[in-house]
Amino acid sequence: MTRSIYLDHHATTPLDPRALEAMTPYFTEEFGNASSSTHDWGHRAAEAVKKARGAVAGLIGADADEIVFTAGATESNNLAVAGGARSRARAGRGRHLITTAIEHKSVLLTMGALQEEGFGLTVIPPDAEGIVTADAIRSALRPDTVLVSVTAACGEMGALQPVDAIGALCREHGTLFHTDATQLVGKLPYDVDAVPTDLLSLSAHKIYGPKGVGALYVRRGVDPLPVIIGGGQEFGLRSGTLNVPGIVGLGATCAFRREEMHAEAERLTALRTDLWRAIRENIPGVVLNGSERRRLPGNLNVSFTGCDGEALIMALSEFALSSGSACQSAKKIPSEVLLALGREPGVARAAVRFGLGKSTRREDLDLLVRRLIEEVTRLRSLAPQIA
Ligand code: PMP
Repeated sequence: MTRSIYLDHHATTPLDPRALEAMTPYFTEEFGNASSSTHDWGHRAAEAVKKARGAVAGLIGADADEIVFTAGATESNNLAVAGGARSRARAGRGRHLITTAIEHKSVLLTMGALQEEGFGLTVIPPDAEGIVTADAIRSALRPDTVLVSVTAACGEMGALQPVDAIGALCREHGTLFHTDATQLVGKLPYDVDAVPTDLLSLSAHKIYGPKGVGALYVRRGVDPLPVIIGGGQEFGLRSGTLNVPGIVGLGATCAFRREEMHAEAERLTALRTDLWRAIRENIPGVVLNGSERRRLPGNLNVSFTGCDGEALIMALSEFALSSGSACQSAKKIPSEVLLALGREPGVARAAVRFGLGKSTRREDLDLLVRRLIEEVTRLRSLAPQIA
């Protein structure tokens, strides 16, 4: 059956037609290399990149020359964590790192690779609500801690992290603070000065922009070592010919999100709150994963105990849903993020993530609740033994 109602906006989002319109000329007549300084094709491409840099910076309260374009948040996270840690270590500042158990793999595996290079690593688990507290970070800080990386919002169970307190703590301690804000930027306000931030990752395709393009905010004076080296583009921090259409698309979507995210956040929070209420009131044995209040507007993550989450998702074939991160769902193992919250494996395996977005209408969610009631009842009757 065709999946007609898309409820997987954490995995990716549809491209905003206005962003596509802005990008299109840069695939065709405006094909110049933004680094070509000897002719107008190059100048026009460079001008478009400059405008986009300003728009990305504007969304997070940064200056344009603090934005480094990358191929997405995976690359931004690699550059921030590996580049930040190696640069501080080279300056003799220490070799200890702190992160959390709810990070995206592009942070966690980079941290693991640094451990193999000899860095020490402390991974902080979240509390029962999915939140990593500033106190937990404080107790892990050491004099030789050079970088702390904490996501602004977990993409799986949506929990908003206290990055303002953690950033302030890191600033006070003289430690670099990186946040993977891929799931938050463009959905909720974030200001790199209000939240003392040194490095911040974002990605276009999570906020109605194109895939394969993102950015790393690098506070002036912070000097990560580059991971991708070559022609020295992007202030020497990310070599490679610039993806001009992608960058233009990212800039366009950031400009629109800046205007539109507030109203959208309010609408999605109301829909999400009502969806959880309807599920809770109509289906027994449900567990909310993550904090009820401190979560992304469009995120709801619920375990339907006694059901296999994947089987439930398959049964609800008219909806595009997932149980968590796209990488993990292929492996059929319980979510590590939900296990880190303290969920039993059976409860973690019973999770479904609902990712609401711009196209989500109230009637879609009414239909979803009706179908959930049917399918949860059916699956439970088939497999009463599953806890
Ligand atoms: N961080 C988070 C929190 C994410 O959700 C994702 C995408 N799943 C990424 C990083 C990676 O982003 P990209 O797809 O742009 O590489």
